[in-house]
Amino acid sequence: MKIQCNACEAAEANVLCCADEAALCWACDQEVHAANKLAGKHQRVPLTDSSSSQVPKCDICQKLDDREEDLNSDSSSDSLIT
Ligand SMILES: [Zn+2]
Ligand SMILES: [Zn+2]
Repeated sequence: MKIQCNACEAAEANVLCCADEAALCWACDQEVHAANKLAGKHQRVPLTDSSSSQVPKCDICQKLDDREEDLNSDSSSDSLIT
């Protein structure tokens, strides 16, 4: 289900502004929140489209995951030796 932008009511909403309690498309988000400094501080939550994949993990998260797997394999091989 797609959420329509509350401002222009034409485009699909991409972000949800917590302060305004409004769903906005990228264009309106920029327009509304560039209006003044206070608006620029509004926290926006990205609306994830169910059809698109989840937000990709950052490099650090991926590295942490890799390290965890490495540690697991290390400990298992250690237990085999001893
Ligand atoms: Zn809009
Ligand atoms: Zn806002």
